[in-house]
Amino acid sequence: MISLQAIDKETVLLNPVKDMAVRKIPSQIRFDPLTGRSARICHFMKLKWEMPDLARLASESQANCPFCPERVEAITPCFPPQILPEGRLKRNDMILFPNLAPYDSIGAVATMAASHIAPMTAFSAERMAAAFDLAMEFFRRLEALDHPEAVYHLVNWNYMPPAGSSVIHPHLQVFATSSAPNLVRQELEASRRFKDEQGAIYWEKLVEFEAARKERYLGRVGRTHWIMSYAPMGVAGDVIAVVEDAACTLDLSSDHLLDLGRGLRRVMQAYEQTGIYSFNMNFFSGRRQDGDYYRFHLVFSPRTFFNQTLGTTDIGALRNLYNETLCMAFPEEIATMLRPYFDEDR
Ligand SMILES: [Zn+2]
Repeated sequence: MISLQAIDKETVLLNPVKDMAVRKIPSQIRFDPLTGRSARICHFMKLKWEMPDLARLASESQANCPFCPERVEAITPCFPPQILPEGRLKRNDMILFPNLAPYDSIGAVATMAASHIAPMTAFSAERMAAAFDLAMEFFRRLEALDHPEAVYHLVNWNYMPPAGSSVIHPHLQVFATSSAPNLVRQELEASRRFKDEQGAIYWEKLVEFEAARKERYLGRVGRTHWIMSYAPMGVAGDVIAVVEDAACTLDLSSDHLLDLGRGLRRVMQAYEQTGIYSFNMNFFSGRRQDGDYYRFHLVFSPRTFFNQTLGTTDIGALRNLYNETLCMAFPEEIATMLRPYFDEDR
């Protein structure tokens, strides 16, 4: 039902320093088993990076931070009363307000803490679950209004500058849209095709397949299954969390949110050992009616600078214009590094 396809390649070079000795460098092109999207496993290196001086990053950016508690309510905009009569949503030390740089008509930003900076392992599972639940509260309000954009309810997390964040202060991007982003749309179409052709739900088959093979399966946290992607987009692999019984964000219960927070915490603890301190995390949600062929999942993708001093991004022409991705280790090897963090007794 699930078939994995890869093409092995080999590059032959002559080394002038060693009397033109032949050097062979392997690489592999993999295809995502759902969409067929290709991903290259190449540029093999040890997954080890230098952590930046987070205290210096904090002190340089705090004075003008729009999301710090002393400024956030004076600077950030409010929703009009027909969307949110109170203008912004608040919960404990978190606040949700409109995105000043919107890419759709209903977009919000939610701060995740009062503190300006935190290493990713400082987030407790409960804090992540509470931030996701604040986003859910916004989504529930839009749905109650029967808003035309209340179709796909998406949460993105760009954490730290390598991941594309221009504000250090921890925050989520929260948006509801009737226009699914490219990959969400492609996954939904492919999942529907899989159901039509195979009579089964791809995401359930994927979990079964990976759990039986064990090469990329990391573990189960409540009703969420954590798997290394076979064809990752990130240079240090991607982790997918598939939720057993939800098709869309609005199907997630508070237990699901806590399971997601607990799993994310384990993933972050594992990656921090390699010097990774930055990531993207996206919700991949269907519509409410997509439950007979789709399952909600999130993807966690570590980000890094290829050159910390120059601020060289890990996304170049290959990814930006061909949407062809590079991963610098075999996902199965990265899974071996992450799996101990999913042991029950941790
Ligand atoms: Zn701040």
